[in-house]
Amino acid sequence: MKRATALLIILSSFLLVSCAKSPKKSEEHFPAMDTYITVEAYGENSDKAVREVRSRVEYLEKLWSATDENSEIYALNHGKDPELSKETLDLAKYSLEMSEKTDGAFDPTIYPVLTAWGFTTENYRIPDSGELSELLGNVGYKNVVIDGEKIVLKRGMMLDFGGSAKGAASDYCAEIMRENGIKSALINLGGNIYALGERTDGKKWRIGIADPENPSENAGILDVSDRAVVTSGNYERNFTLNGKTYGHIIDPKTGFPADNDLLSVTVVSEEGRLCDTLSTALFVMGKDKAADYWKAVGGFEMIMIEKSGNIFVTDGIFGDFSSERAVFCIDNAE
Ligand code: AMP
Ligand code: MG
Repeated sequence: MKRATALLIILSSFLLVSCAKSPKKSEEHFPAMDTYITVEAYGENSDKAVREVRSRVEYLEKLWSATDENSEIYALNHGKDPELSKETLDLAKYSLEMSEKTDGAFDPTIYPVLTAWGFTTENYRIPDSGELSELLGNVGYKNVVIDGEKIVLKRGMMLDFGGSAKGAASDYCAEIMRENGIKSALINLGGNIYALGERTDGKKWRIGIADPENPSENAGILDVSDRAVVTSGNYERNFTLNGKTYGHIIDPKTGFPADNDLLSVTVVSEEGRLCDTLSTALFVMGKDKAADYWKAVGGFEMIMIEKSGNIFVTDGIFGDFSSERAVFCIDNAE
């Protein structure tokens, strides 16, 4: 009898330990924000957390879509004066702040130019220089006025959160996870990743950094915990005409797709919206200016993949990045 009780105690404590080691997993997979979203969370409230995450992303998409006729952004872009949500005002303010900080490499008013190239409809074409310079007359973050609860756009101007929405959404998702007591989750909004906490085995999350020339393969792996990891590159959306490839990230100074020594930029920080706006802006800047920005401003880490195939990684994450390619460290030493 005594033996049986002892065995039962041993067995139940074993069960308790093994339960503690593998918390409940919940997942959601769904299309939104022009991409495919996957969310996985571990912990007691994981079901509720992933459901809330999904509905928040769907809610944000309804506010921010540039093509949905019922969105706040669509109304703004079509001369209406909609009542704006706190989320829209916050992201507009943040986007303008990042435009200022990146000297206009990030510019959420680039939409008319993006449309002229066909990136919004997939009817791709090459606008001529006259058309581009006319359109660039309607581009310029400095002309967006935020007046209390209102955003005022000049005639012909349009606002687009395509370069920031997913990163900003990932911050809301991470917040929902934390509110639900989740300590381990992976939120992937089409390559905009938020790796919350650590994996359930106590190790860091392993995030594949896509090979821009063959995006179904990885150029390397980054180990992270509690960080957003966001990549921008022209391999994500582009078209090829007469042997030349044109990508969806536009240099606001020229109206042409950014075309420099880079194939992709990955930004790593605690904030998804910072990573998203910066990865777009640093891709526009090119390798040397991006490295200078990192040295001068900081607050993030990055991985740049050059057209040569070489990879440049800032020293804060250099030790956490593995690749079979040539990898060079960028540090603050002049
Ligand atoms: P991402 O994939 O985050 O680099 O964002 C690219 C998307 O941002 C494009 O599809 C456009 O909607 C928008 N975009 C393109 N160029 C810029 C730019 N220079 N600044 C801000 N948004 C941009
Ligand atoms: Mg971006």
